[in-house]
Amino acid sequence: MVSLRSFFSKFFKNTTTAKKSTMINLILFGPPGSGKGTQAAHLVEKYNLLHISTGDLFRSEIGNKTTLGLEAKNYMDKGELVPDTVTINMLKKKVDENPDVKGFIFDGFPRTIPQAESLDAMLLEDGQSITSLLALEVEDKEIVKRLLERAKTSGRSDDADENIIRNRIQVYLKNTAIVAGHYAKSNKSVTVNGIGTIEEVAARLSAAIDKTLVHQS
Ligand code: AMP
Repeated sequence: MVSLRSFFSKFFKNTTTAKKSTMINLILFGPPGSGKGTQAAHLVEKYNLLHISTGDLFRSEIGNKTTLGLEAKNYMDKGELVPDTVTINMLKKKVDENPDVKGFIFDGFPRTIPQAESLDAMLLEDGQSITSLLALEVEDKEIVKRLLERAKTSGRSDDADENIIRNRIQVYLKNTAIVAGHYAKSNKSVTVNGIGTIEEVAARLSAAIDKTLVHQS
């Protein structure tokens, strides 16, 4: 039997596509401990976007003891990246579950070029794109200090061990930093000083986003 929803799906798709042309899709970028999660909380409120952190999604899977969680844990415990296919599928599922949002803040994703290319393709299917990649800059010494401090309350074993932190920084430099270059090709990468109070960094991020939005309109 043909459901009403599938009967009208063509119509729904068209209206959805029209609405989605105004979405704001941000990538909050930077090394571990640069403040992405903290800043995402501010931006979510200000711009009314959905925050998706792949790290949080993996930790939730681990908490629920799913097969995906158990697989991801092996990599996370060492500070290595979870394989692209697993990560991309999980992200895509979360995006597909939220078709009506005004936009997304991607936090901790994309972390590799294949992830960035998949994200671009995924958004393009709906006539969308990344609005801006905002790269928070924080030096290594400060990152180590912040994460060891966070470990006291986060309960995250990957924050508690300096060797694992240093490996995460290396992985960021080797695999992830080039993602900013990918978006720089279309003038979408912006660097933001990540040192300062939460409010100071939030103000810098907002200024960078507002500037992009003015140029876009
Ligand atoms: P985060 O909470 O962003 O610091 O991520 C914690 C850990 O989750 C990382 O060290 C990786 O092991 C894994 N992870 C999170 N996001 C990704 C991603 N986009 N690609 C691969 N692994 C990821």
